[in-house]
Amino acid sequence: MEKEKIIKKLEKEISEEEIEKAKRNDHARRKPRACGFTVHIAKGCDANCLYCYVNTKPKLIDISPKALLYALLLNPKFEVGRSFVAIGAICEPLDFPDYTKEFLDEITKLGNPVQISTKEVNYNLAKTLRRVDALVSMCSAVDEICKKFEPKRPLPSERLEFCKEIKGGVFLRPILPNVSLKDHFKSLEIIADFTDRVILGNLRLSKEVRRKLGIKELPKKYFEIKRKLEDYAKDLGLLVYRSACCSNAYRHNVVCWNKCWEKGFCSSCPNACWEKV
Ligand code: SF4
Ligand code: SF4
Repeated sequence: MEKEKIIKKLEKEISEEEIEKAKRNDHARRKPRACGFTVHIAKGCDANCLYCYVNTKPKLIDISPKALLYALLLNPKFEVGRSFVAIGAICEPLDFPDYTKEFLDEITKLGNPVQISTKEVNYNLAKTLRRVDALVSMCSAVDEICKKFEPKRPLPSERLEFCKEIKGGVFLRPILPNVSLKDHFKSLEIIADFTDRVILGNLRLSKEVRRKLGIKELPKKYFEIKRKLEDYAKDLGLLVYRSACCSNAYRHNVVCWNKCWEKGFCSSCPNACWEKV
């Protein structure tokens, strides 16, 4: 269905008050990022993962899932069926499972490549999550290590079982300098039993994260270590992505939104974007 028709249909389903709120919502205006349109169903999180820069109380967005979709559709840059959508930054979307489920159920009707990142486990959402590129995120797949950095989220062993159930990928992030290379390798060995793909994410160091992790800067060999992990993961038979949009492209069998194959972020996955364009 054309964008205008979907907008008109939604206008009949949501209240006038919600329509006005949605028009003022920043999803109606924000520019897409490299990974696509970031959708924030909430802001803030109180899980206090040690490497995380999010430090405000979680607050759900003040419009309904349908109104949020409406706001996104009002965005002149959003293309139905084409624009990539990424959910899961600056909050934990599965802390709001009913809202997230309803929003995913609505947005998947448009046929856009949708990706969601989560550290939570909720089998009630499994069916919905199987329809999108679901990334199960963790800093290590080794329970004892992960627990130190992500004390309030389920153990990675539980998350990985869930990941298998929803046919998700693993977002191994951030790659922490506090974890030894041997333990990172172990982590990848565990992950390889539960998924076909892994994304290796960078650590972002804010002042507070530096303090919480007790490190001043990224070690000089940080990116060398990441390359070693990439090679090791490939040897284990995993598809390795340097960028989250590639997983979304692969999962939906479409060309990478960020044109990673032209920018040095391509790991030559079976999606073979250069053949699709
Ligand atoms: S669960 Fe996610 S958003 Fe919440 S503190 Fe941990 S990394 Fe940050
Ligand atoms: S072929 Fe390259 S650019 Fe395309 S999705 Fe795969 S890794 Fe990304």
